[in-house]
Amino acid sequence: MAQIEVLSEVSKFLEGSPKMTIGGKPTEAGSGKTFTVIDPSTAQVITEVPRAEMGDVDAAVASARAAFDDKRWSGLRPGKRTEVLYKLGELIKRNINELSQLESLDSGKPIKIASGEMWMAGEVFRYFSGWPTKMFGETNPTTDDQFVYTLREPVGVCGGIIPWNFPLIMAAWKIAPALAFGNTIVLKPAEQTPLTAMRLAELALEAGVPEGVINVVTGFGEEAGQALAQHHDVDKIAFTGSTEVGRKILHASEGNLKRVTLELGGKSPNIVFPDADMKRAAKGSMFGIFLNSGQICTAGSRILVERSIHDEFIESLVAATASMRLGPGMDDETGMGPVVSEQQMKRVTGYIDIGRSEGAEVVSGGNRAEELGDGYFVEPTIFAGVRNDMRIAQEEIFGPVAAVIPVDDVDHAIEVANNTIYGLAATVWTNDLSKAHRVARGVKAGTVWINSTGQYDPSTSFGGYKQSGFGRELGVHSMEAYTELKSVWVSL
Ligand code: ADP
Repeated sequence: MAQIEVLSEVSKFLEGSPKMTIGGKPTEAGSGKTFTVIDPSTAQVITEVPRAEMGDVDAAVASARAAFDDKRWSGLRPGKRTEVLYKLGELIKRNINELSQLESLDSGKPIKIASGEMWMAGEVFRYFSGWPTKMFGETNPTTDDQFVYTLREPVGVCGGIIPWNFPLIMAAWKIAPALAFGNTIVLKPAEQTPLTAMRLAELALEAGVPEGVINVVTGFGEEAGQALAQHHDVDKIAFTGSTEVGRKILHASEGNLKRVTLELGGKSPNIVFPDADMKRAAKGSMFGIFLNSGQICTAGSRILVERSIHDEFIESLVAATASMRLGPGMDDETGMGPVVSEQQMKRVTGYIDIGRSEGAEVVSGGNRAEELGDGYFVEPTIFAGVRNDMRIAQEEIFGPVAAVIPVDDVDHAIEVANNTIYGLAATVWTNDLSKAHRVARGVKAGTVWINSTGQYDPSTSFGGYKQSGFGRELGVHSMEAYTELKSVWVSL
């Protein structure tokens, strides 16, 4: 064990009862209510944050509206907006130790991994800082007596509702493009993990983002989240979370027909062919499902293995899993932390029971790791003998549970891969180029990884097919989600 010491600035932040940021000011809930924030590694309360209700969301939206309407952000010279967003990326990196500790304490994720994520969040701001100067329109090929051109304009006030699995990265995915394209935003982090988003709002002010452009409200999904999704003065909602809540967001948003992008659940196939580099495939498949304790929407939770190598591959997968150390987030030797909450732990162990009762065989893990104390630790669990119609192969568990399913050949692998309501991502391990590309074309998924898994880059758009959602985030395609297109006709 190599427990990390908590930095004094982190203790100070937690002891100060963090506040929301509305109109650039530290703000408590109008009701004065708060809720507790728990460290999943210890099950201990680490701080309390404001519990926003409808009135608080109204105030945050009014602040974002005022900031949008008076153009204090979109009216700045594009190069100035670039400078501010770039600086925010730098400030994230400069405060990486503090932010990583907050993230680790809040979510349970291993400190080393948290640190990498903070860096990636900074990169998202750096990437999007390039966009304000590149919001080009077009001239259109109409007749000689017409001059037609298009303008790209910001959508307006955006609402960002984000989950607890990658708190700061998700905040960056919502805030950076919204601002790059001239919008203002109200962000509601998940109630389990509000801290780094709250700190980000402070850093944004330090970077020079004008007051009211980024507002962060903390609260529960059915209260603050719902209020934001149904708000008539919010022009766009960007949501990342479960498919079930995504449906609710869609219903809530119908009142004013706001723009909606949904990045939802997954049950992503991870396909292993006999011609793959077995060691690499086993290690990669292991990280594909167990990284972040399996709490990743793109987790390769269905491992499809060609029958001829099935037993041998399971052996390698179990061995790779055994090398990963389960432990508290703030220990720098930890490879996998706890799951985020007691509720999530119960959900995951419940699914492990379901898998057993469906007749699948546990070949690794299968229990809560009680020896690690009160924290919400679940052993990395591998099921063999899974059929694709079992619940553990069809339903998103969002925890460290892998279902290994034998397949016959490429066509069968594609068929099984697509036999799901989801379509977020897929991974294929093979050294046969044509096989790899056949799978890439055959699977219905927004992202396909060949001989790697879990890769992201701010330049590369991300989103789902089918019930994994719609719209694309990151990259050039995020412009569609955060702008309106206006056609202007001039008669000559
Ligand atoms: P998970 O299932 O991974 O916990 P959820 O989809 O429940 O994720 O939550 C993701 C985000 O959606 C969180 O910020 C949560 O507060 C919010 N949320 C949950 N329910 C609602 C709702 N009915 N309306 C709006 N937001 C919600």
